Amino acid sequence: MPASTASYAAESPVARTRRARRIYRALFDRYPYAHAELDFETPLQLLLATVLSAQTTDVTVNKVTPTLFARWPTAEALAAADRTEMEEVLKPTGFFRAKTNSVITLSQALVDRFGGEVPPRLKDLVTLPGVGRKTANVVLGNAFGVPGITVDTHFGRLVRRFGWTEETDPVKVEHAIGALFPRKDWVMLSHVLIFHGRRTCHARRPACGACPVAQWCPSYGEGETDPAMALKLLKYELAPGAELPDPPPGPLPGEQRVVTA
Ligand code: SF4
Repeated sequence: MPASTASYAAESPVARTRRARRIYRALFDRYPYAHAELDFETPLQLLLATVLSAQTTDVTVNKVTPTLFARWPTAEALAAADRTEMEEVLKPTGFFRAKTNSVITLSQALVDRFGGEVPPRLKDLVTLPGVGRKTANVVLGNAFGVPGITVDTHFGRLVRRFGWTEETDPVKVEHAIGALFPRKDWVMLSHVLIFHGRRTCHARRPACGACPVAQWCPSYGEGETDPAMALKLLKYELAPGAELPDPPPGPLPGEQRVVTA
């Protein structure tokens, strides 16, 4: 039985909430600059960038979206786009034919049903083709300022390793974690967990020996515990400084930042 499962049963809800908030505070201190890593200026741009981010990195999406939105700046223009031309633009993101289809179909639905605007409500967003709760919450939280929890692969893995929940269904995870934190923290909580999952608590080999929440994590030891070895596992998707909207706080002592894309 994984440590997180054993400790989940033994921990009271009050103790779990207290520990969860401690972990969040420590991660917030570690990644105070955590933010949506997709570049966007409008809800439409964020919605489409999120759809394009499937099976690729945010860095790759950020390379193609300036061209995409300059060539077709509105939902109307995107809906009427030449398919072959858009495929060329989206090629670097992989699955470019399917993604071209998604962008055009989604834009057509926005034009037909919402006057070309992205609706600011979850119940409307999830009716759009290719838009699930995860994408809808990303858009609501980051483009409309509506509190939401984004349960992506990193978030789901981390909350189970933390022993915050045993649920695997994303909607149940969303509700379970939402109950541990005030609504005002939901968006930043999503950002810091996703940052931690990408940089430190990796799926295959978490860097436990370089983890700021190791003392509260029942899964400590699932990954590398030797501090020097663990530091080498830290990964940053963007070059140091490029991922920080504010002046960079500087690397941790001995930290090696690795550019992976
Ligand atoms: S890196 Fe290790 S100690 Fe840190 S959160 Fe992940 S599993 Fe827990």
